[in-house]
Amino acid sequence: MKSLYWFTQDLRLTDNPAFSQVIEASDEIHCIVIQHQADENKMGACKRAFLQQSIDSLSQTLAQQGITLQHLPLATMGNTHSPAVAMAQAINQYCQLHDIDALHVSAQAGSYERDALGAVKVVVTEHFNQTLWAEHELPFALNELPPTFSKARKFWEQSDRPMNLLHSDALKQSHDATLRALASMAEPVPNAQFSGGEQAGLEHLASYFQGGSASFYKQTRNALDGWTQSTKFSPWLALGCISPRQVMVALRQYENEKGANDSTYWIFFELLWREYFFWYARRHRDKLFVKNGLNGEPAYQAKDDPIALKRWQQGQTDFPLVNACMKQLNQTGYMSNRGRQLVASCLVNELQLDWRLGAEYFEQQLIDYDVASNWGNWQYLGGVGADPRGLRRFDQDKQQRQYDPYGEFIKRWQGYVN
Ligand SMILES: Cc1cc2nc3c(=O)[nH]c(=O)nc-3n(C[C@H](O)[C@H](O)[C@H](O)COP(=O)(O)OP(=O)(O)OC[C@H]3O[C@@H](n4cnc5c(N)ncnc54)[C@H](O)[C@@H]3O)c2cc1C
Repeated sequence: MKSLYWFTQDLRLTDNPAFSQVIEASDEIHCIVIQHQADENKMGACKRAFLQQSIDSLSQTLAQQGITLQHLPLATMGNTHSPAVAMAQAINQYCQLHDIDALHVSAQAGSYERDALGAVKVVVTEHFNQTLWAEHELPFALNELPPTFSKARKFWEQSDRPMNLLHSDALKQSHDATLRALASMAEPVPNAQFSGGEQAGLEHLASYFQGGSASFYKQTRNALDGWTQSTKFSPWLALGCISPRQVMVALRQYENEKGANDSTYWIFFELLWREYFFWYARRHRDKLFVKNGLNGEPAYQAKDDPIALKRWQQGQTDFPLVNACMKQLNQTGYMSNRGRQLVASCLVNELQLDWRLGAEYFEQQLIDYDVASNWGNWQYLGGVGADPRGLRRFDQDKQQRQYDPYGEFIKRWQGYVN
């Protein structure tokens, strides 16, 4: 059996039971990443660098096992070819050239990738290795995904699976490997910056839980700035340099050693949001990207105002806090969750632009860009997603008084426009 493993949002070997199983079951394994030239040209520099570091790191780890990671470039193929068609063609050509029997890939949330998989001519197996649960383990059928996060969360909280990360032999091995990897980083240096790759992700995971920040997470998570105020796991999770199960292993270990409280629970709670949006994207497919979302009608009349959009992107609006957040995003590729909510609310409610323009800009800039979390959160704030309350407007002045009372964040990121 000749297998092709397509690495996507699972750029790691620890806790990747799917990859281990494919190696065992195959006489020959080929590994690829697909790099989409047109997308990369549009990417912000921070995002491009983080992605490249993560791919390079995977490439080196595979090389230690004697496996070469092949890069399949995806050239823009003109208007007649959608990215899905181009991806499928690239994979089919590779399979034909190398006599491949089967393709293995992490289960995809994006519709281009899913359409591409539908057009691949060899047997395709999708593996659920970027979520806490596989589809057959969900406490509801996917087409009965609860319409709101709160309802889904209740099902999940009653399930024992996140508490029991050891429900199969493959997971037991992965669990032990994660604990060994974390223990081997006995005193990782907390370097307070994002550097891509599995090793850097595991180091950050170990470092975060070696400090005491997890015990105060609920009180600090809304801060606009500060390395330990929230976990900063998102960039590594988005590319799969670490997995949510590994976060749970480290979190449970922390709780056993230092005690569980509301804050440690809240880290799990936030991972459930990530989980929810993944299944939401799988369930609703193309509806994730349409203006009216799930509602069938717009929550507001969007204006066509390219100048306002440009000013929002560059941090040149009438709202200093929004400007500071956007400048932080442009310079670092990261923005706090509170910041994301504020700038999204500004784009939707104050500037009345199409929420998808905001989602597209985030897609280009965020180092933690994740199709499901990004478009799901934007749709939610655009009033056409998984929120029964419709549009939510944040009072920008009030938020500034609450989250930046002394104007320090605005000053640091130069939010005042002359
Ligand atoms: C408009 C908008 C766009 C967003 N786009 C993305 C995106 O592209 N990629 C992304 O990973 N997150 C996105 N988020 C969610 C959230 O802002 C980030 O996950 C979080 O700020 C990352 O920082 P952290 O790792 O320190 O998070 P923490 O607060 O430490 O949370 C721990 C983990 O839980 C998950 N998480 C937390 N909040 C959310 C949420 N609201 N939705 C989904 N998962 C969550 C993340 O994986 C995160 O790493 C978006 C939120 C908004 C409002």
